Amino acid sequence: MQIQLVDLQKQYLFIKEEMDKAILKVLANTNFIQGSEVQAFENEFGEYLRTVKGKTAYFPVYCASCANGTDALYLALRALGIKKGDEVITVSHTFIATAEVVVQVGATPVFVDIDAGTMLMDMKQVQKAITPKTKAIIAVHLYGQPCDMDQLMQIAKRHRIFVIEDAAQAHGAVWKGQKVGTFGDLACFSFYPGKNLGAYGDAGAVVSKNEELIEFVRCFANHGRKKGEKYHHSICGINSRMDTLQAAVLRVKLKHLDKWNELRNAHATYYLKHLELPAITIQGGAYSVWHLFVIRSARRDELLKQLKEKGIGAGIHYPVPLHLQPAFAHLGYRQGDFPVTEKIAEEILSLPLYPEMAKSELDFIIQTMQEYVYERV
Ligand SMILES: *Cc1c(COP(=O)(O)O)cnc(C)c1O
Repeated sequence: MQIQLVDLQKQYLFIKEEMDKAILKVLANTNFIQGSEVQAFENEFGEYLRTVKGKTAYFPVYCASCANGTDALYLALRALGIKKGDEVITVSHTFIATAEVVVQVGATPVFVDIDAGTMLMDMKQVQKAITPKTKAIIAVHLYGQPCDMDQLMQIAKRHRIFVIEDAAQAHGAVWKGQKVGTFGDLACFSFYPGKNLGAYGDAGAVVSKNEELIEFVRCFANHGRKKGEKYHHSICGINSRMDTLQAAVLRVKLKHLDKWNELRNAHATYYLKHLELPAITIQGGAYSVWHLFVIRSARRDELLKQLKEKGIGAGIHYPVPLHLQPAFAHLGYRQGDFPVTEKIAEEILSLPLYPEMAKSELDFIIQTMQEYVYERV
């Protein structure tokens, strides 16, 4: 049996008819940049984020699409005016994009450790890392689980610091009745193909309850053009647009997202029931969308090798903490600075998890894992 970490082919076959129709419609219209699908997706995604179980929030959610999730984070920092001399607090246990963009706007990433149970930003550490230079916190809803947004927003309000949510792995995750992406000043989504909501190429979005911030992002991401302008540019921006094809793909997939997230939850529950290894603790009040199913093992590398031999596509997210990456050497961090992050990086393992997984596949993985654990004792 061959089981991939994520199987996009299975998903495509499942939605082929709708998807082909949507793509062919874009090809027929040839409106490849800023076609009507783009605005339609922005509106639909904004509505999706303000709706939980059929109940719509009192606040609006504005959405500006862009070329990818990394650009979304960059655009959010630009919208808040983060620049040289500013500090931005975030975690070392995340994908590099979260901190890379802080360097790209000239500011300094300040890393904090994570909680060993949730593997998310440790709010006590955030409090300690605040200095007069701190301008923003980027909270990462890693693996699909929401951060404790009560604590985070309280800290941010008290110190008048901006909050950006990196929701690249958490489309549809809910914290106490409210979707992630609607708490901070701005939130960023990636629609990289393997994400819970994935395009057929690169795509991303910035969302906010603040229309002005989103208007800035829209303008900046489109060569500094304001609405309706073509060769008039009010600011020097960049080119970071979502193409019409990707918007059409995402509109088809958005309709299935809740059902897919439910299936991920069902598979994760099944894993948790049958595996005896420590996994992630989900906080009370949190609905995780299980972007990844991550377990911990002191003999992770051996286990990974064993799974690979059996055709199981396990992975490590992420093997090298950001504070130990050569890319951030200039920040002067050392081994030992973030003990929880460093220990977890050596022990984590992501098992295959995607909505279309068959029970036989889950059972095969569980059986392989159990054999390994059994052999070990
Ligand atoms: C995927 C991801 C990003 C970057 O998104 P891209 O679309 O690949 O640029 C940022 N942050 C996190 C946590 C991610 O998982």
